[in-house]
Amino acid sequence: MPKIPQDFLQQEVKIDRSKALVLFSGGQDSATCLMWALDQFDHVETIGFDYRQRHLVELDVREEFLLLLRQDFAAWKSKLGDDHLIDLGGLASLGDTAMTHEVEFKANEDGLPNTFVPGRNIVFFTFAAALAYRRGCKHVVAGMCETDYSGYPDCRDDTIKSLQATLNLGMDARFVLHTPLMWVDKAETWQLAKNLGGDTAVKLITRSTHSCYLGDRSELKDWGYGCGNCPACVLRKNGWNKFQNSLHPLKR
Ligand code: ZN
Repeated sequence: MPKIPQDFLQQEVKIDRSKALVLFSGGQDSATCLMWALDQFDHVETIGFDYRQRHLVELDVREEFLLLLRQDFAAWKSKLGDDHLIDLGGLASLGDTAMTHEVEFKANEDGLPNTFVPGRNIVFFTFAAALAYRRGCKHVVAGMCETDYSGYPDCRDDTIKSLQATLNLGMDARFVLHTPLMWVDKAETWQLAKNLGGDTAVKLITRSTHSCYLGDRSELKDWGYGCGNCPACVLRKNGWNKFQNSLHPLKR
């Protein structure tokens, strides 16, 4: 029977099962995932990506969100570790999408919205896993969702499961990729934030996260900032209204 190499055992010891890395973009979904991770794990770090997105407001609000999170939640402050911002400008150089260039939102010939950045989440997860490896985090958490999504194939549960297998094979690791929002809708995402951190969490997500594709932060509505009309705003607004008006199964 083959012997297990000694360095493999040492590497396993270095991976801390209580440490998580969260893909945190500054949007509602990843902010809720960050709260979920802070509830689940002992030490949580964050990673964000500058891929020359059309509006840098998401990157601005993520700093504000982390600051206020530490102010408002003492228990989470002690668990929240370093934030890592990675430059992925090469993604925008591959070609136009409505996420990185000033073009109209519409469906492409293949039926996918032109906000789809091919390969984006695969690249994000690969960089996140590489950082998790270096930081000794066993868990990687992200906000992909099949329920309300725009049809992006790299948000699908099968894509994430396949990535988990590939990343673990390629790095000889045992990462667990978590997507706590995969099967919930936007109303349930608001409710999850409330369950985790009460009205303070809902208020923080409302004011200090950003979803609008147009980067509009001119006026605070009850569901947050945004134009109210782009696909991301419509999802966020409709989810908020359903959260406010229905007796949701997750509601406590
Ligand atoms: Zn908008």
